[in-house]
Amino acid sequence: MAEKKYLKSVTIPVSTFENVMKQFDQAAARLNIDQGLLEFLKYPRRSTIVKLPVKMDDGTYKMFTGYRVQHSIVRGPAKGGIRYHPDVDLDEVQALAAWMTWKCAVVNIPFGGGKGGIACDPATMSKGEMERLTRRYTATLYDMFGPESDIPAPDVNTNEETMAWIMDTYSMHARHTVTSVVTGKPLVLAGSLGRREATGAGVVIAVREALNHLKIDPHKATAAVQGFGNVGSVSALYLQRLGIKVTHVCDVFGGLFNPDGIDIEKLINYVKEHRRIAGFPGAKECDRNDIIYADADILVPAALENQITEENARDIKARIIAEGANGPVTPDADPILKERDIFVIPDILCNAGGVTVSYFEWVQNRLGYYWTAEEVNVRLERFMTSAFHDILKAAQENGVHMRLAAFMVAIQRVADVVQLRGIYA
Ligand code: NAD
Repeated sequence: MAEKKYLKSVTIPVSTFENVMKQFDQAAARLNIDQGLLEFLKYPRRSTIVKLPVKMDDGTYKMFTGYRVQHSIVRGPAKGGIRYHPDVDLDEVQALAAWMTWKCAVVNIPFGGGKGGIACDPATMSKGEMERLTRRYTATLYDMFGPESDIPAPDVNTNEETMAWIMDTYSMHARHTVTSVVTGKPLVLAGSLGRREATGAGVVIAVREALNHLKIDPHKATAAVQGFGNVGSVSALYLQRLGIKVTHVCDVFGGLFNPDGIDIEKLINYVKEHRRIAGFPGAKECDRNDIIYADADILVPAALENQITEENARDIKARIIAEGANGPVTPDADPILKERDIFVIPDILCNAGGVTVSYFEWVQNRLGYYWTAEEVNVRLERFMTSAFHDILKAAQENGVHMRLAAFMVAIQRVADVVQLRGIYA
C-alpha cells in the first residue's frame, strides 16, 4: 500500500477503499440482507486500468496510467467524476466509485456509481498536453462510456473544459454529437445552469438544515473551509450568503484567517487572477494545516480524503462537520466525533448536490429542452432537503450517527432494486 502524506504532516498507510468497506460493513451489519447479496453490493462490478501514451510538447513520449471503475449499475448507469492527481491509484478510484453508488441512492436519483482518474500532475503540464491526455483516455475507454452505461463528470483538477474534450472525443467516435455522455459541460455545450455551483450549494443546504436541527442561528455562526476549488469556494460563498461568518479558508498553498470574516466574493475574484489565496489583502496568512482545527462552529473539509483521523479527531473544535470532499473523515474517527457530539453531515449526503444537478443536466440533454436557473435550484433544494431529512429520520430511529444512517438507507435502496430485478442466471 502506497504511503500518502496528509495534512497533519503525518505519513500513514491509508487504503481509502478499505475505509469505504468498513463503512459498508458497519451499516450492513444492521440490515437484514442476504450475505451473498451484500458481497455483490459491496465490491465494484468492473475495474479497468489503461496505459495512456501522450506526445509531450518537447516531442518526447510519456506514459500515464488511467483508471475507470464501475462500482454499480443496479439503479442506472454508472455515474462519477474523473480526477487528475499524482496520487490517483486503483484503491482510491474504487473507493470514490463506491461512494458514488451510495450517494446516488441517498439522493434517490436513477444512477449507479463510477469514478475515473489519471495519475498525473496537471500543475506541470501544458493545456495541449492535458487535452491530448484527456482525448486518449476517452478514446481508450470509449466502449465503457455512454449515456446509458457510464457518465463521467468533473472532480479534482478537471473542469468544464475537460468535459468538453471528453464530449467531443466521444462524439467523434460515435459519428454524431452525444451531449449526455458527460456532465459538468460548459453552458454553451449543453451544460446545465447551476451545475458549477451545485456541489457547494448542496453543502450549504445541508448545513442550513443541520443548523436548524441543532437550533443554531446562522447569523451567530462561524465557519472554516479547507480547499478553495470548485466545492470549497462555492460553499464558502453560500455560507456567507446565509449570514455565516467565514473566518478561515485554505488551499494547497496556504491558509487565511480573519476573525471578522473573510470577504469571499472578493477572495474568489482574487483567486481568478492569482490562482491561489495567498497574498489576499483582506485576511492574515496562516498555516493551511491549522484550518481543520480552527475555532469555528462549522468545518467544511473540501479538499481531499483522510483529513480527520483517529489521531486528530479529538482536536477538532467545530460543532458541525459538513463533508464537501469525499471521505475526509476516516471510519476510526467517526465514533470519536460522535462521542464528542460533533454533528457530521456525511459526504454521500453533504456533497450530493453536484451529482443531483449532473442528473438534471443528463435529463435536459435527453429532453433537448433546457431549464431556467430557478427551475434547477428549486429541484436541487427539493432533492437535498428531502435526502437530509430521510437520513436524519433514519439516524434518530436507529440511534446511529448520520453516516451510518446514510449507508443503511443507501444500501437498502440498492438491495431493494436487486431483489426486484432478480439475479440473471
Ligand atoms: P478542485 O480541484 O476544484 O479544488 C481542490 C481544492 O483543494 C484546491 O483549492 C486545492 O488547492 C485544495 N487542496 C488540495 N490539497 C490540499 C491540501 N492538502 N490542503 C489544503 N487544500 C488542498 O476540486 P473540487 O472539485 O473542489 O473537489 C474537492 C473535493 O470535493 C474532492 O474530494 C472531490 O471528490 C469532492 N467533490 C467534488 C464535486 C464536484 O462537483 N466538483 C462533487 C462532489 C464531491
